[in-house]
Amino acid sequence: MSHVPAARQFRSRCGTRLCIALGFVLATACAVAFTVDAFGLGHVFYGGAAIVLVTVFCLSPILRGVRPLQVWAPQTLAGACFILSFTANYILSDSPESVVNTTYVLGYALLVVWLGALAVHLGRQDESTILDTIAVTVGALLLVWVIMVVPMAAGSMQPRGVALGVYPATDLTLLALAVNLSRRLHRTVPALQVFILVLTLQLGLDLAYAAAHLFAPEWVRPLLACYLFAYLGYAIAAGHPSVVELQYHPVDDERGSRRPTALILFTISPAILATSVPLYGSIDAIARPTLVTVLLVLVFVRLTRTMQALTGSEARSRHRAAHDPLTGLLNRSSLFETLTRRLGRNARGSSGTAVVFVDCDDFKHVNDTWGHTAGDDLLRQVATRLAASLAPGDALARHGGDEFVVVADVPDQAAALALTDRMRASLREPLVVNARREHTVTITVGAALALPTDEVDAQEMLRRADVAMYEAKARATGQVVFFDEALAESSRIRATLGDRLATAIAEEQFRVHLQPIRGGAAFDTTLAWEALLRWDEPELGPVSPEVFIGLAEELGLIRELGELAMREACAGLARIRRECPRVGDVAVSVNVSPAQLLDPGFTEMVRRCAREAGLPLHAVWLEVTETMLVDTAPHVLEAIRDLRRQGVIVLIDDFGTGYASLSTLLRLPVDDVKLDRSLVARLGQEEAATRQLAAVMALVRSLGIDNILAEGVETPDQAVILEHLGCPLAQGWLFGRPAPVDDVISSLSHDAVR
Ligand code: C2E
Ligand code: CA
Ligand code: CA
Repeated sequence: MSHVPAARQFRSRCGTRLCIALGFVLATACAVAFTVDAFGLGHVFYGGAAIVLVTVFCLSPILRGVRPLQVWAPQTLAGACFILSFTANYILSDSPESVVNTTYVLGYALLVVWLGALAVHLGRQDESTILDTIAVTVGALLLVWVIMVVPMAAGSMQPRGVALGVYPATDLTLLALAVNLSRRLHRTVPALQVFILVLTLQLGLDLAYAAAHLFAPEWVRPLLACYLFAYLGYAIAAGHPSVVELQYHPVDDERGSRRPTALILFTISPAILATSVPLYGSIDAIARPTLVTVLLVLVFVRLTRTMQALTGSEARSRHRAAHDPLTGLLNRSSLFETLTRRLGRNARGSSGTAVVFVDCDDFKHVNDTWGHTAGDDLLRQVATRLAASLAPGDALARHGGDEFVVVADVPDQAAALALTDRMRASLREPLVVNARREHTVTITVGAALALPTDEVDAQEMLRRADVAMYEAKARATGQVVFFDEALAESSRIRATLGDRLATAIAEEQFRVHLQPIRGGAAFDTTLAWEALLRWDEPELGPVSPEVFIGLAEELGLIRELGELAMREACAGLARIRRECPRVGDVAVSVNVSPAQLLDPGFTEMVRRCAREAGLPLHAVWLEVTETMLVDTAPHVLEAIRDLRRQGVIVLIDDFGTGYASLSTLLRLPVDDVKLDRSLVARLGQEEAATRQLAAVMALVRSLGIDNILAEGVETPDQAVILEHLGCPLAQGWLFGRPAPVDDVISSLSHDAVR
């Protein structure tokens, strides 16, 4: 695929080399001819070669496609001037010397304009480029003035000698401009490097030429012949493919071009030199101080601008480092600083410090439904609303994601409560999403308050507010939770439990208890047992599964714990089936956490546990909560389908508490629905409860699921109503509390004996 361009590249490189070689041969031949026969044919050859080379110089860049043309026009015109001059001098040999000189000097001047324009174009809108270019030009002029013009005028030099000094002076200016240009490019452009090299050669030649004119006239002709090589060099530079790179490039960063190094190099040194050479004549007395003054003013302006730019960019980067780019609020690190400062100040005063954590509820849902752009937009609106609800001295920060934090000075808890009320009220009116839709953001708020007497640092305050917010989330009552001693205690216990959980799993400190699931007439037959984990922590005593399951999920230990539960459950059921064969083909129903389902090894784990216990797969039921299945990944659904194909029964647990029940049910491959305890609890007490339950059951049946299990059945009335409604399965304290496997076995044997 790539060998065609490679071949073309190779051919073009060979072509370039051939041209250079030919040019070299031509230049050498004509130079020799000129040296040997200076006034005859050699003269014409010389002129012809010079014209050819300069034509290449002035046309190549345009043919190579350099842009913009107005920047390159002076270069082309300069070439045209040189060609005119050569034609007048060498081809039409009787032209007046003034024509030759004027066109030549004009060509030089156009080159200066070209390099200046190029520098300005490359610097685009960067006024430092313009200042530097002017400074470099003035500096070069001053240098030439001091080292050439003044000594020539002061010494034995003729006016012609002074005229000869103009060429090296211009060379020097061009050289300075070209070096300045190459510094601005921040990358190597061979065309420009060759050009700088040739300008150096030209400077040497011009100096030697001037010297030869004054001191060694016999060297004038051979030196003149050498100019052909300089012209060849110009042609090579301008014909090089890299010449097109001499244009504006967005990659050229501002960093380098803003540095005034070139300026200092080309201005300070001539200025110093200018003061060390004695003044000569009145023109010098005026010209020199003027040039030095111009230079110093330029240096002053340039340095002032550089300082301003630096200060500006410093301020910008300081702001960037302290603020959140999305909302413009303080970010996490500056929040920390602010809080530290406030706590220190308030500890010496009489005001308390409140830290309020705000978390937007269900924000993931916003992003999933309307996309992240809408989510970002909504966050900005929330930030604006919250900011408007605060007092002038309060600090608002984005703590990441959909969390915000407020730091405020408050006298007491009542004031802090008033503040959180104002914050919640600010979001009561719906926000606008995607220009048309309205969405009300609800927030969960947790707060911590430090009074001047409390010795607490910023980190601890943030932790407290965070704990309070988690508690508020867990309570789900929509009330603000303030951090207090009780919360401190429970969070300490949580922390201790968290520390011990991994060891507890490794040491298998967990047991499963079994609770019967009944079916048949009057729910008199046990069809399965639900396995419920129990942890009796050696020091702290029994820990609720709601607590340790949540912790294991948070700490990433749920896979190990889930596997332990599955193994224990299967082993327990296998023992029952073995020791009490009368129970028949009963099953065990095991609770599964979302993180477990995401694990690719989950299916295999279930199969392994059943196999090791010697259970058929249809004796294993899995209880999966409906909320966790709302945003199920395709591979999770596939895993569930796979297990079902192998006989495993899948239940939706706690049905009726989530919000996406219908869509979940429609999408999910499930066998069974377990109605939440809250739907059963009021049966027999309220008329409406029966109607509600009947409606939910009708809904589930309409989706083709007939296996409905009611959990939390505590009274005989409830059981009667359920049976009456046609609910086939039930579970609850009425039929049996969760009990250790041994107890289940002994009560089964007892029943058998009776
Ligand atoms: P769940 O799956 O909804 O389990 C039913 C809970 O209700 C159990 O609480 C059970 O003891 C209780 N219960 C049973 N019958 C009645 C009744 O008639 N009245 C009342 N008031 N309650 C009844 P438990 O054992 O405290 O378990 C709480 C939760 O912990 C479970 O809720 C389940 O989500 C989770 N869990 C328990 N074991 C495991 C497990 O092995 N893995 C996972 N992932 N979660 C588990
Ligand atoms: Ca369950
Ligand atoms: Ca349940």
